[in-house]
Formats: sequence, C-alpha cells, structure tokens
Amino acid sequence: MSRSLQLALILAVPLLFLAAILVVNRAFVTRGDDYGYVLRIELASAEREVDLPQIEGPQDASRPLVVIDAGHGGHDPGAGNGPVKEKSVTLALSQAIRDQLLAQGGIRVAMTRDEDRYLMLAERSSIARRLGADLFISVHADSAESKEARGASVYVLSEKGSSEAASRFAKRENQADTINGITFSETSDVVGAILLDLSQREAQAGARELAALIFREIQGKMRLHETRVQSAAFAVLKAPDVPSVLFETGYISNQDDAAWLNSAVGRRTISRSTAQAIRVFFARRSGV
Ligand SMILES: [Zn+2]
Repeated sequence: MSRSLQLALILAVPLLFLAAILVVNRAFVTRGDDYGYVLRIELASAEREVDLPQIEGPQDASRPLVVIDAGHGGHDPGAGNGPVKEKSVTLALSQAIRDQLLAQGGIRVAMTRDEDRYLMLAERSSIARRLGADLFISVHADSAESKEARGASVYVLSEKGSSEAASRFAKRENQADTINGITFSETSDVVGAILLDLSQREAQAGARELAALIFREIQGKMRLHETRVQSAAFAVLKAPDVPSVLFETGYISNQDDAAWLNSAVGRRTISRSTAQAIRVFFARRSGV
C-alpha cells in the first residue's frame, strides 16, 4: 500500500464520521412539519399495503398523531373462549381511548381497525409508519392456563427483538437505498446504519417513556399483573421509527378481570389513564 493511499485512508475515517454527523444533524434540524424527535425511514414495501385509516381530531398536521391498534379481529378472536372475546374487548377499549383523546382535543388519532376485521401484525405497525405517527399503542387482553392470573402489563420491545428488527430493516433498507428522504450511494452503508440505529434508539426511548407513564397512571386504579414495565419481542412493536407500546389490559381468562374489562367503569379507567399518559408524553416534548 502506497504512503499516499495510507494517508488518504487515515483521513477518510474521521471525514466519514463527520459526514455522518452532518447528515444526522440535518435530518434532525430540517424536520419542522411534525414532532421532529424521531427520524423517518423510507422502506421499500414488497407487500400489498392495506388502505390507510382516517385520521380524526384536529385537521392540523403539526399536531401529534397517535395510532391505536385494537389487537386481533375478524377470524382471529384472540384470547378467551367464554362469551367475552379479546378482539371485542380490545376494540371497545381502543375506541374508548380514541374518544377520550378526541374529547380533550389537540391530538390526532387513527385506529388500525375500527370494526371487527382481521389485520396482519406487520400491517398494523406499517399503518403507523405510513401515517407518520408519533406513537403507536397496541391494546390487548391476556390469557393464562391458571384462572387465577389477573391484572394489566405494559410491554415495550425487548433488546433482542429490537436488534432482530434492526437487521431486518437494514436488509430491506439496502434495497430501498433511502433513509429519511436522503438517497445513499453504495459506499455510505455506515451512515445508513448510524441513522437506523439512532432512529431506533429514539423510538425505543420514547416507547419506554410512554410505557412508564401508562404504568404510573394505572397504578392504584386497576389491578397490575407485574410490578414494572415488561419487554418482549412482540412483532407488532417492531417499527424502527415510531415509539410503540403494547398494553395488556388484564386477563380475559379470569372471570373478574373479563367482567371488569367489559364494563363501563373498566373502559373509563383504562381510557382516561392511557389518554392522560399520552397527553403527558406529548406535553413533555412540546414544552407546554
Ligand atoms: Zn392479544
């Protein structure tokens, strides 16, 4: 290797990092159209895309957007083999959360489903990404062998699930060659990887914050299954640029939990607590 080539290589490394910092900086600074704390990543989509749902609330794209995902639906009833089906409980709870948010105003809301229909897991988070959502919350109800198991749990994506998602997105990203609207040449893989990593860290930090807020709001108001926020490799939480939380609202396999989740007081408690957590999450970001 010639001396000048060695020198060029030595110079290239810090320059590459400088370029990465500049690109990242630009990506953060130029986003004035929405909340601006998470990078958007354009991904190539091979699958057929489902129709996007209507966005309700203020017709102002600068307002934060929450996508609420009622778990299961259609031919997938979810948990529960008695008269109470998870898919109906999650839809009623999701609608109650939406109504609560809309009644208080200032936040835009979209539902992955607003009726009894089936959606694949990837379609649910894809809707949030395609709408440019600031938050994604998936509502579920648990079940267990033991009829005694009760209470709510709040989940974020686990470390392992997150790195699996990153490598999958990175792979697809290489086909798309575009991150946050910037097209990269073949030589800038390292910049792309840095952007993806940063974006995912931001989204994960947001998810943990929202999960902690929901946990704080529901404490003392409803029965909890766990004493802290949980993490698992839920496929529905794998969007790399939308903070995503899964709320297991209770055990449908437990008679008392099922009755409570299906009651007006249960819906009111869950919708008010969740809406309040979401409101605090955005208030912290807008500084109001
Ligand atoms: Zn479920």
